[in-house]
Amino acid sequence: MRRISIFGATGSIGQNTIDLIARDPEGYDVVALTGAGNVARLAEDAVRLGAEVAVTADADRLDDLRTALAGSGVEAAAGADALAEAADRPADWIMSAIVGSAGLVPGLRALRHGTTLALANKESLVCAGPLLLAEAARHGATILPVDSEHSAVFQALVGEDRAAVEQVIITGSGGGLRDWPLERLSEATPEEAGTHPNWDMGQRITIDSASMFNKAMELIETKEFFGLPAERIDTVIHPQSLVHALVQFADGALMAHLGAPDMRHAIGYALNWPERRHLPVDRLDLARVACLDFHSPEAARYPALDLARWVMRRGGLSGAAFNAAKEAALDLFLDRAIRFTDMAPVVEQVLEAMDRAGCLDAAELSLDMVLQTDRDARARARAIAQT
Ligand code: NDP
Ligand code: MG
Repeated sequence: MRRISIFGATGSIGQNTIDLIARDPEGYDVVALTGAGNVARLAEDAVRLGAEVAVTADADRLDDLRTALAGSGVEAAAGADALAEAADRPADWIMSAIVGSAGLVPGLRALRHGTTLALANKESLVCAGPLLLAEAARHGATILPVDSEHSAVFQALVGEDRAAVEQVIITGSGGGLRDWPLERLSEATPEEAGTHPNWDMGQRITIDSASMFNKAMELIETKEFFGLPAERIDTVIHPQSLVHALVQFADGALMAHLGAPDMRHAIGYALNWPERRHLPVDRLDLARVACLDFHSPEAARYPALDLARWVMRRGGLSGAAFNAAKEAALDLFLDRAIRFTDMAPVVEQVLEAMDRAGCLDAAELSLDMVLQTDRDARARARAIAQT
């Protein structure tokens, strides 16, 4: 039996992970499940899967969680410290699927125990990639990418000479507003931006797909995880979301990864790695697919991409500032305090101001520096939005 924990169990990635492990009850021993606001689902899954402990990130919900777990034998815990402590519980495989930079600390804690961390939480690589990779190396831990594009690149690189990689191309659907006239984008509501043509995901990443802030994050994630320079990483719009990424090698060969848009593929690949086992995902019928379209993203529609390229060149604490400013801008958009098209300018102004003030310089990252930069960038984004 493999001991596994799921951080962010109540979310879209967490629920897809549970779907896979629940199909093989003899295969897994569930250690910790975590959530935040959705205490009812957390408790239900923890009882159903026989978890050791259920943790809500929201300290005020401990009584609710205790009540929901009463008599089940599952321990209840709440708050940030309890979340980090859950990462200390011995496990062979841990899914990191909390949304936002809140996923960084539990992920780092888990790596200290030499575990295998399936990383969906792209924010932790964007904020603190070098810190995460160094922690994994120090403790002999393994990080497996779960973001579909990065899982695709990882799979295309199996058995290959990484020195022969010329370029990595990650695809993006262009999001729910891809075909809107440019001049109408400023009117988009959170509901309109929160609808995705192909993928069924959490609300925040769906809106980030419409702005392509998600792809911007993934460009940085590619640089951090695969250690490639910015000029070797590109993105292309592929409306069908069937090709997830492509790797071009020195001999001109382009290795593409195709599959149905179902996150259970990338999650299952990480769960079964280094083996491949049957997964309950649709198989592609290429004759029915018939066409695969690709085109370059327009800079005016997706300004987040240029910001990501700046961050990739700038390094230091710019990723932490970029992610936090983006999260704050998204909160402001969800609160209807700024427009859809205001998000990128807010992030750009935060980056410019922090760069001018010397706040992005760091020869070596530390967790304290990253968390401080995160707080600073969020506060600046909120202040800029008020002016
Ligand atoms: P969801 O919003 O669906 O779920 C987020 C999870 O994090 C929930 O369990 C939620 O709890 C929990 N959570 C929210 N806020 C906090 C907090 N402050 N502290 C601790 N836990 C918290 O997100 P997704 O599943 O869509 O995404 C999860 C991660 O995976 C993100 O980093 C995303 O970028 C990445 N990802 C997602 C993909 C997808 O298809 N969904 C694809 C590739 C990457 P609760 O619901 O109980 O409030
Ligand atoms: Mg992705």
